[in-house]
Amino acid sequence: MSTSTPHERRNRPSPANFQTLPYCDSCRTDAHLSYDDFVPAYYSGGQGLEPSTVRYTCKRCGNHYSHHAPQGWAPPGWQWYD
Ligand SMILES: [Zn+2]
Repeated sequence: MSTSTPHERRNRPSPANFQTLPYCDSCRTDAHLSYDDFVPAYYSGGQGLEPSTVRYTCKRCGNHYSHHAPQGWAPPGWQWYD
């Protein structure tokens, strides 16, 4: 017996879920970014999907950034372990 409902897809926008592409606020470009670390999204027990996290440095101004990345995004040239 199927119990599917028309409300299965939850698409409510939330500021907490806002994820931006890597970008240097000081230089207003992503042209000088050097990626230090990238943790792909993963499922954690009970918590659901943990968004991917990216860390990078702007080689021009030296600013460091760390935040969640949009789903499906990976740094340029990033190698996935498959
Ligand atoms: Zn910069």
